[in-house]
Amino acid sequence: MEFLLKADLKCSGRVSEAVSASEIEELVKHCNIELLKKGAPPGCGAEIVGCKVAGEKIGLNIVSDRFIRAHDALLRLKNEFAKFLGQHRIGIRGMEIEDYEIAMEWEEGLEIKKLPFVREIKHEEGRIKLFLDVDEFSLEKRIPDRIIRLLADKREAARWKGKKEHWELLFESNKKRFFFDKDPTEELIKRDWIKHAAGRGQWIYGPQLTKIFRAFERVLFDNLLKPLGYEEMIFPKFVPWAVWKRSGHAKGIYPEAYYVCTPKTRDPEFWEEVMDYYKVTNEIPLNMIKERIEPVGGMCYAQCPPFWVFLQGKIIPDETLPIKIFDRSGTSHRYESGGLHGIERLDEFHRVEIVWIGKKEHVIEHAKQLREKYRRIFEEFLDIEWREAWVTPWFMAQEGKAGMAELKEIGTIDYEAILPYSGKWLEFQNVSVNGDKYPKGFSVKLQSGEDLWSGCSGVGLERWAAAFLAQKGLEQDKWPAKFRSAVGELPEVFRFL
Ligand code: ATP
Ligand code: ZN
Ligand code: MG
Repeated sequence: MEFLLKADLKCSGRVSEAVSASEIEELVKHCNIELLKKGAPPGCGAEIVGCKVAGEKIGLNIVSDRFIRAHDALLRLKNEFAKFLGQHRIGIRGMEIEDYEIAMEWEEGLEIKKLPFVREIKHEEGRIKLFLDVDEFSLEKRIPDRIIRLLADKREAARWKGKKEHWELLFESNKKRFFFDKDPTEELIKRDWIKHAAGRGQWIYGPQLTKIFRAFERVLFDNLLKPLGYEEMIFPKFVPWAVWKRSGHAKGIYPEAYYVCTPKTRDPEFWEEVMDYYKVTNEIPLNMIKERIEPVGGMCYAQCPPFWVFLQGKIIPDETLPIKIFDRSGTSHRYESGGLHGIERLDEFHRVEIVWIGKKEHVIEHAKQLREKYRRIFEEFLDIEWREAWVTPWFMAQEGKAGMAELKEIGTIDYEAILPYSGKWLEFQNVSVNGDKYPKGFSVKLQSGEDLWSGCSGVGLERWAAAFLAQKGLEQDKWPAKFRSAVGELPEVFRFL
């Protein structure tokens, strides 16, 4: 890695008149030998290769390697020069960054077109060259370091995409008897058990399917949540930016988020034009509205992040562990674009989110207990054909930590069921061990100082229904007896002429 930085120190007086050229030369020499080498291996570090005094400005040309990055060198120099100039009653008012060029080795074929705070990007023979557009403030905020880190993440993500083995079979159930070979959504529509709602990927679930969803929840409660000691909570369903910054979703959620906006003011006068426009046209004036609202976050995406605010900044006594809670209080929303399909892939869906918190070994061990309970439910109640696969969780792939998942301590297990009508496997839930990600992100500590870990598991009710009905059909007499009795009689409320 190479850094070339051209910057001016702006001083409060005419340096050229107060200080002699040989004094400056002496200072530069001293900096090059000591200050800019401190902390680097022998022969490495930064160096001033040019220093020019003109009136109130001192122009510096700095080159460096990865050990003392040139912007760090410049910040060191600013202090050193301030000390020196202070003796001549001259202060440093600020810095101007003229040019900042960073070059490093780069993957052939991986093209980066745009980066924040970068004016121009050049790719040449296994190298990438960045021409930064930064000021003093962005150097102090360590923007160049973050850009370098971002590039490393992009490289890791690209390598990861190229690999196929981030899906690994862990368990597969026996073959099961299927009683249906059609798309269950179509059959549900035909029977008026569901109807597509007014929104994208949004459905209205009639009394029958709602009763089936509630039976899923009850089976889950009686056979997993209760025996494992879970308590219910109600998590918020609007998620402000502050939560997604801490949960890490702020790094990549944008293409899938359902955004939430608030009015810039609730003054009716501010909105009068919008109301009037609608009254005379019967059209919603989207552009007028856009000018009057503020994006404040999004709708529930992953369900557990907004819960963590409950623990934010707290110290937890060790003896209260493990903590086991769940939420089923509302919808989740994702913009699935063209991927929408029946009740299998929705923009609005219902999920039970299970969260457990404890010390590392316990969190890993508890995931095993959950897996055993799930296995029993799928065998005894649903009798479906399903499998478990080890996959790398979203945040590790996104943050370039895919390699860490190879340890198999932190990671996600996807549960998939075969859909006889298409021959495809559908993910219907997951079990994730998230390591210390959430406690770290939300500054939650353990009294003993030991690491706090957590895990979560999301049970998609529509996905359970899609998997179960696709294999067993809608005729109750074909369902496993235990599930049939968990559901009870299906209500008939509506008839249409
Ligand atoms: P997929 O790969 O199918 O998009 P995902 O990996 O995005 O799923 P997760 O983020 O792991 O899903 O979400 C946990 C659970 O939430 C899923 O196992 C599924 O039950 C449910 N879920 C996620 N997205 C949807 C959706 N668009 N429609 C219905 N259920 C969903
Ligand atoms: Zn979660
Ligand atoms: Mg998805």
